[in-house]
Amino acid sequence: MSASTRIPPIAQPFVSDRAKKTLDLVEEFVEKDCIPADPLFQAQLDAAPSRWQAHPPVIEELKTKARRLGLWNMFLSKSHFSQGAGFTNLEYGLMAEYLGKSSIASEATNNAAPDTGNMEVLAKYGNEAQKGEWLGSLLEGKIRSAFLMTEPEVASSDATNIQLRIRREGNEYVLNGSKWWSSGAGDPRCQVYLVMGKSDPTNQDTYKQQSVVLVRANTPGITVHRMLTVYGYDDAPHGHGHITFENVRVPVSNMVLGEGRGFEIIQGRLGPGRIHHAMRTIGAAEKAIEWLIARINDDRKKTFGQSLSSHGVILEWVAKSRIEIDAARLIVLNAAIKIDQGNAKAALKEIAQAKVLVPQTALTIIDRAVQAYGAAGICQDTPLAYMWALIRTLRIADGPDEVHLQQLGKRENRSRKDAVVSKLNWQRAETDRLLTANGFGKIKSHL
Ligand SMILES: Cc1cc2nc3c(=O)[nH]c(=O)nc-3n(C[C@H](O)[C@H](O)[C@H](O)COP(=O)(O)OP(=O)(O)OC[C@H]3O[C@@H](n4cnc5c(N)ncnc54)[C@H](O)[C@@H]3O)c2cc1C
Repeated sequence: MSASTRIPPIAQPFVSDRAKKTLDLVEEFVEKDCIPADPLFQAQLDAAPSRWQAHPPVIEELKTKARRLGLWNMFLSKSHFSQGAGFTNLEYGLMAEYLGKSSIASEATNNAAPDTGNMEVLAKYGNEAQKGEWLGSLLEGKIRSAFLMTEPEVASSDATNIQLRIRREGNEYVLNGSKWWSSGAGDPRCQVYLVMGKSDPTNQDTYKQQSVVLVRANTPGITVHRMLTVYGYDDAPHGHGHITFENVRVPVSNMVLGEGRGFEIIQGRLGPGRIHHAMRTIGAAEKAIEWLIARINDDRKKTFGQSLSSHGVILEWVAKSRIEIDAARLIVLNAAIKIDQGNAKAALKEIAQAKVLVPQTALTIIDRAVQAYGAAGICQDTPLAYMWALIRTLRIADGPDEVHLQQLGKRENRSRKDAVVSKLNWQRAETDRLLTANGFGKIKSHL
């Protein structure tokens, strides 16, 4: 059964024939070209003189094949951008699920973060000169980029805390401050940083103090101090940089959208990007189920005379994993449809639901697969340990779960409280009326 025949019935009416054909191509490309090449990518990286200067050749070979198949820039949705492959967010969501099963498939098809979000920013907010300088090369997959918002000295989940100073001097901006978790900054092909800082720190409106400027990665005054590890993994050559800016000068023409528009930009950037992660994570969870099924049917490794699939508790893991993943997929696809029907702002609730639910679900499923493998599950002999580490970060990256839950809870409470209280009061009164009319006493309740 090909991928297009497995599209959930609820999503089928929204998927074009062209997207179905491409979806099947994506599945085949990921399963037959990318997943077998994942270990080759690591081997080529290890064989290079430095993991941070390496660009494994297999990536360029896969890129060439992906382009030939038309699997390129699918993330740029047709309703909001003209530069992409012409699919909707929903259609890309179905494809991204397969990309999430390989650690190199997203880059091989030019759908990898953080470039995706950065290309969206440039396409949506950049002027013609900025697009000419950076967007074309990013769309071609010739260079890479990083988005620098988070800072080591402040709680960055509240972006109003950001401190990096952007001060105007004549025809230049001068940047001073530090950033960390700058994903992608380790790659030697990373040529541009999108840097968020404060251009007007005393503005009465705390959401108008910030701006985003484009900074060439090798500008004097920039120091990349180190790459941060993720549960011990270095994520080379991509990396997560700790970077300082000391009197870094950029022309005023590098300002994106205008001074004080930084918040607007990050809100736009993080919309669809958040569900791209969720979509890929569904694919990672599917991969975990595949590895789980492989282990529990491995007849070489029986416990108490039986394969693991004969133990009821293990089959329950398989069943629960299937239920959870199918439910999570619907949440993601629903968010994608909502974005397609309006925009990311109109789908804030649905995006937040997917952002919170999917990594938690995937982590539970991966953990079951790890458990089924015993000690093998936590070492390098399966992809499960790395997948767990990677997906665990999504509960923090792009805003921690708690921030999204707080916003979701506030919105749900605010929008429903009056209508809910008045409906319940009316129903209680109506029950009393019915009871009295039928010769019974009113309900005794302390409410
Ligand atoms: C793998 C990875 C990649 C990343 N890539 C990038 C990148 O490319 N660019 C970039 O700029 N940043 C990046 N980040 C950083 C990420 O966006 C931040 O870590 C995140 O926004 C949280 O900020 P913080 O680490 O400063 O945590 P803090 O703001 O200090 O928050 C710490 C904890 O406080 C709790 N908390 C916060 N707010 C609330 C609340 N309202 N209610 C209850 N509890 C709360 C949460 O549990 C939270 O985890 C990345 C992070 C990771 C792990």
